[in-house]
Amino acid sequence: MNENIDKLIHETFEKTNDPVNGKKIRYNSDLITENEFYCNNCLDDRKMKVINVKMREDINRNMYNTFEEAFQRNLPLVYELECLQCKSKACLIVQKMNNEIKDIVLYEKSGGCASKNSPDGVKYYLNEAKLSKQIGAKSASMAMYRAALDFLLFEQGYTQGMLGNKIKKLEEDRENNCGPKWAMEIEPQFLEAIKDIGNSSIHPNDGNIKNQEEIDENLLNLVDIVFSELLDKIYEQPIRSKNNLELLKNKISLLNKKE
Ligand SMILES: [Zn+2]
Repeated sequence: MNENIDKLIHETFEKTNDPVNGKKIRYNSDLITENEFYCNNCLDDRKMKVINVKMREDINRNMYNTFEEAFQRNLPLVYELECLQCKSKACLIVQKMNNEIKDIVLYEKSGGCASKNSPDGVKYYLNEAKLSKQIGAKSASMAMYRAALDFLLFEQGYTQGMLGNKIKKLEEDRENNCGPKWAMEIEPQFLEAIKDIGNSSIHPNDGNIKNQEEIDENLLNLVDIVFSELLDKIYEQPIRSKNNLELLKNKISLLNKKE
């Protein structure tokens, strides 16, 4: 279990020293605290305000002997999150199922591994990929990475045909030295791999549903990294370079003035 979730649960179920009942666990329905969670607007871990929004008085009145007992009576736990930096909000749901504590964060804004300057369409599909992964729908998540790649190439001017055709056209441009600058710096096999795995995630695969087990959390994490690098190269790095050059030029003009 995530360390932050563990801390939050222990804050929600406080240990009390009741004069009559002795050491007991009490449900803190008024809990307001701060904890670090991933902010999909800042695209990094951020300190967030956490408010317990589940106000059930009947639970509040009861005292429990053990943490387990209290937790089982009080499912699911629901919290409102607010990023202290950007003020965007999210909802955290924690539930115990089959002896395992599961948590999901529903964000008000789109997120996933999209970078700040990615096109809205790419952000849309990457958000869907993230949401699917959160609830354990791994094949669905993989299909959304494929859709995000399809949208990305469309936005970059590769508008004809299915994804396979778009990648083929990009490879031709690469060979003829006439594609976008980023195409020269990216190995097309990465794009092919996202397409092929994405296809497998929605095709019948000769009637063998067992194959879907290969699309596991580790694979999705890897695809997330590959996609982040792709977006950085296409949409962020050129802006960073331009800004850095501007800064250098400004410095030069200031230095020249002083001479
Ligand atoms: Zn934020």
